[in-house]
Amino acid sequence: MPSIFSKIIDREIPADIVFEDDVCLAFRDINPKAPVHVLVIPKKEIESLAHLSDEDESIVGHCVLAVAKIAAQEGLADGYNMVVNCGQAGGQEVPHLHFHLLGGAKQTLV
Ligand code: 5GP
Repeated sequence: MPSIFSKIIDREIPADIVFEDDVCLAFRDINPKAPVHVLVIPKKEIESLAHLSDEDESIVGHCVLAVAKIAAQEGLADGYNMVVNCGQAGGQEVPHLHFHLLGGAKQTLV
């Protein structure tokens, strides 16, 4: 079932988009938990990490590389965090795979 992120991909609802290519889209989180908080999502509808199949390997690699590129673009040369919540127990609220890029404040998440 399409989530709110599919509507952002389809431009049905607005978002502050910072990067886009054929495979992924990146936009600022509406409720940022750090000075820089960007969500990188695959354009393919994949519910979560638990729903990946082998054919999605290149998509995941592409999204992770996009996180690194956007971090550089955002001036996060000192470092940053990448977080993926998976499923209910993992605190995932939006059922469309997304990679959180968090930076601009020192934080240790694990
Ligand atoms: P999750 O808890 O699923 O890993 O993270 C979902 C994230 O999506 C949250 O940080 C939340 O603030 C963000 N979010 C939810 N709805 C929207 C929206 O409509 N637009 C944007 N830009 N971010 C959203």
